[in-house]
This record gives sequence, C-alpha cells and structure tokens, in this order.
Amino acid sequence: MPTRDDCLQLDARDPLAGLREAFDLPPGVVYLDGNSLGPRPKAAAERAAQVVVQEWGQGLIRSWNDAGWFTLPRRLGDRLAPLIGAGPGEVLVTDTTSVNLFKLLAAMLAHQHARQPRRRAIVCERGNFPTDLHIAQGLAKLLQQGHELRLVDRAEDIPAALADDVAVLMLTQVDYRTGALHDMAALTALAHGHGALALWDLAHSAGALPVDLRGADADAAVGCTYKYLNGGPGSPAFLWVAPRWQAVFETPLSGWWGHAEPFAMEPQYRPDPGVGRFLCGTQAIVSQSLVACGLDVFERTDMACLRTKSLALTDLFIALVEERCAGFPLELVTPREHARRGSQVSWRHPQGYAVMQALIAAGVIGDYREPGILRFGFTPLYTRFVDVWEAVEALRDVLQNETWREARFQTRSAVT
Ligand SMILES: *Cc1c(COP(=O)(O)O)cnc(C)c1O
Repeated sequence: MPTRDDCLQLDARDPLAGLREAFDLPPGVVYLDGNSLGPRPKAAAERAAQVVVQEWGQGLIRSWNDAGWFTLPRRLGDRLAPLIGAGPGEVLVTDTTSVNLFKLLAAMLAHQHARQPRRRAIVCERGNFPTDLHIAQGLAKLLQQGHELRLVDRAEDIPAALADDVAVLMLTQVDYRTGALHDMAALTALAHGHGALALWDLAHSAGALPVDLRGADADAAVGCTYKYLNGGPGSPAFLWVAPRWQAVFETPLSGWWGHAEPFAMEPQYRPDPGVGRFLCGTQAIVSQSLVACGLDVFERTDMACLRTKSLALTDLFIALVEERCAGFPLELVTPREHARRGSQVSWRHPQGYAVMQALIAAGVIGDYREPGILRFGFTPLYTRFVDVWEAVEALRDVLQNETWREARFQTRSAVT
C-alpha cells in the first residue's frame, strides 16, 4: 500500500504539478470540492480589476466594441469547445445551466412535436440533479401538449425506456452524486435508433474528463463553468448545438441578443443563423470575463493528460480509504471501473452529514449530498497526491475519534 512518501514521489514526478501555482488555495486546506465550486485562478483578481476599472470605468459604453464585450459569449465558447469535442462557432458561454437546459429542451421538443406529435416523452434519470428534472417538469406543464417525464431508476433501465414515443433523451454524463459516467456515444446512438434526440448535461464532465460531443454524434449539450472550469461563483454556463441543428432549432427565449442583427432594432424577431440565436439578453460581462482565467490554465495542458492523473488520484483515494478506514461503515458508491468513473469519489455513511462537517472543520473540504453521501472531487489541475493522503488520514481520524458526534457537526446549514 502506498505511503505518504510514495505520494510525495508521485507529486515530484507529476507533469501537471506546475499548474497548481495558477490557483489561490488557502494554506492548511485540502480542497476536494472543485467539482462544486472551483478555486480562484490567481489571474482572476487582476482581470476583475481590469474589467471594472479600465473597461467599465474608463472605456464605458465604448467597451462593448473596444474590449470585445459584445462577442465575449462566442469567443469564450470557441475557447471552451476543444474541452468538449466541439468546433468553433458551436458553443456559447451564457446564462445558467438551468436556463440553457430550458432553451435547448424547448427547442428539441418543439422540433420533434412539429414532425411527430406522438413523441412526447422525455427520458431522464430520477437521480439526476434536481434542476434538470424541475426544468423539464416546468416546460412540460407550460407546453400543454401532454409531454411526460419518463424517469428511470438505474442506468441499465435507459434502453428499455427508449420506446418510439420518446422525443428527447436528457442525461447528465457524470452523476453528481455517485460520480458514475455514462457512455455518451452508445446512449446517443441508442436514442437516435429510436428517433429521439440526445441532450447532454456536462456539469460534471467539462474540464473533468475528455468529452467528445461531435464524436458521439450528440445533438445538444449544456454545462457549468464554475465547477471544474474554475470560472468563479455563478459564472455563466455554456451550451452547445450540433452544427446540423443550428439553423433548425428555435429558442423559446427569443431575446434581442439572439436576433440576426440586434442593432437593426427591428420589431420582428429574426434568429441569428447559427448558435448565436441561443443568446437571450445582455450578458453578465464582469463574471463572464473571469471565465477566461480558468480556460487559460486548461490551455497549458490537455484533457488526456488530466484524465490520466484524475484516475490515478481517484484510484489512490479508493485504495487508501479501503485500507486505512477499514472497519468503518463506508460504502463506495462510485464505480471502480475506469470507463464508468468521473472525477469524483463518493462514499455512503450512516452519519454522512456530521462526518463531512467534522472533516471540513479538520481542513479537508468535500461536501455532503443526500442520502448519506460524502462527496470528494478530484481536480488534477491543483490536487496533489499528498492531498489524497492527508484527506484519508483526516477521515480516519474523524471516524476513529468519532469527532463527528460533536453537537456543532449535527446542525444543518442552508447550503450543505
Ligand atoms: C451543478 C449542476 C447544475 C447547476 O445548474 P445552475 O443553473 O448553474 O444552478 C445543473 N445540472 C447539473 C447536473 C449539475 O450538476
């Protein structure tokens, strides 16, 4: 079994080790929650000051052109595209993941309904992140065309749910709770075989592992920039539309930014011919600008290299927990098989909430998700092998000394 020294050796040989310097990480903390909120790229402070003081303060309204504010959603989309197997002119950085899901799902349902009105089912997993399900529920209600959410309990049940009445298969590629990874190409092909379209949520895949939207022949996708992409709290999300659908899908939020000529100021809406039609209104420029600082770091490496280290980190974490925390009621809920694992590891524990609070107090930041799940994100840009070691030691200490029993670790906060 590896020792702490072995972990230090792995760090010394790690080709990505130099990238950690790009981030501001508080001393004395092992941060294993970059899958929920990425840390701050050091460059973000200077960039924020530049946007606020220079571009806004001095440039004023001229900055829409001079500082490239107007084209920012597309320029950032083009830079993000290689991380998800997309090409230039296919991705926008805009709005939130929830709003982007609404726009794309509505466009896909309308497209299907216009051709085959009997296609009214949306297939999703019951365990998907709630907003994905809530957005689909709200949309189905709004449309009043009898759309139905068909929820499956297990990934193995997806093929059976894909009958010929399915309009859209809407899945999150990596499960936010368990870290289980879907085979995007296989499921997309299955959906297409039944005449359904495939909409992928990449919230836990973009920047976490290599994604190949074009290779998988997917139809559309959304994802977050504030998780693995380190764009900052609430930074705008992204969306992707396959080139074959760009001139076909219609956005339900037909705002002026998606118009073919926004400054023609026409009373009649005419959509942009490309993915730009999925813009809605004026963008959150300050926050959007900082997304570039996260992407800068990704441009110093590649996703294949990140994936190799990610799997090494998660393998090490699983092995060390199983050895050093043996005898405690921890149940691994993340698949062991590499092909089925994202970049996080989750364990179920009967006192999961309190255990995580005690661990955070000890300086190891992961998070808790119902039911009973301790969630640890491994982000190879800045997570070291020795961090894995320290995290397991802290977990062992919390379990052995039962520090989680302390009253202060039992009370729930609004954000867990
Ligand atoms: C994090 C996450 C979201 C977040 O959506 P927001 O609109 O940014 O709040 C959505 N879907 C999934 C699967 C997520 O993991």
